[in-house]
Parts: sequence; C-alpha cells; structure tokens
Amino acid sequence: MTVIGYEKPELQRVEPALADKERFMRKAIELAYTGMNGGFGGPFGAVVVKAGEIVGGGHNRVLHDNDPTAHAEVTAIREASRALANWDLSGSDIYVNGVPCPMCMAAIYWSRIDKLYYACLPEDAEAIGFDDEAFYRQLAKPLHGRELPAEQLTTVYDEARACYQAWLAKADRTPY
Ligand SMILES: [Zn+2]
Repeated sequence: MTVIGYEKPELQRVEPALADKERFMRKAIELAYTGMNGGFGGPFGAVVVKAGEIVGGGHNRVLHDNDPTAHAEVTAIREASRALANWDLSGSDIYVNGVPCPMCMAAIYWSRIDKLYYACLPEDAEAIGFDDEAFYRQLAKPLHGRELPAEQLTTVYDEARACYQAWLAKADRTPY
C-alpha cells in the first residue's frame, strides 16, 4: 500500500476486540492523568500498540520540558520507535484520549501507523482551552493566506535546491 509517497510494508493487521481497545484507551487516559497531576503538561496521553502489545506510551510534557512539540502522541511515537528500533511503525495502532492536533496527526502519518483510536472530540479540547481546530483552520488556507507570515528567499533557492538534489543522487539513500 502506498501512503503519501512511501511504500508501506504489507503487514497483517487484526482489528482488536472492543475490550482490548477500551483497555488501551484507558491506559492513554491513565497516562493523561499522570502527566497532568505530575505537572508535565495538559491532560493528554497516548499509547502505541503493535500485535496486541503496548510498545510505547507517553503523556504531554510541554510545560515540564519547555518543549512545545512534546505532545503525548509525539512522546509515545518516539518511545515506540526507540523500542522497536524502527522509524516505521507500520502494523501499529495509536490510542489517544482526544483527536490529535495537526502536528501529531502529521507525526502519525510520518510514523506510518495504521489506525488512530480517539475518545474526546475537538470541541471537548476547545472547551478546556485547547483550540487545536484553529491550527486546522489555518492549515486549510494557502501558505500565504495564513496568520503566520512566510517568505521565500529566492536568492538562495538554487543553493537550497542543490542539497535536495544531492539527496536524490546519494548512492546509499534510504527512502522514507
Ligand atoms: Zn499534538
């Protein structure tokens, strides 16, 4: 199966029983409590599951780590990838206590995870002060129609593009 330019390995995926899915989601919720009560960050948790086993888990760590990218999903994906010694998490599912933000959604695509399970809805996140939908609305606009200004430095375009071309020409390149 080709997913966004990458040939995913064909792995047999078995849909878990509902009781297992609930168990994994409850683990994500438990991690969310752990992170929140420990002062790590917002009430968000995630687990990555492969072949019925949790291979990575995490909670939001933004405040504790002073890392705006340390969302639960990114933390869980990093842990799972380290544990499996593989950046490609094909054959894995991710359980998140709420719908992921655009950064985490993209991280899920990059990790090639097979399926997302979520519980809370975007409006639930907004109701507690996390307006992820604002970023989704921004990203739906053209690059130059967003609140964040962006500018192409055309004078160094050729130098930048040469590096891209060097990647394509790299003999031992591993596509991902
Ligand atoms: Zn996120």
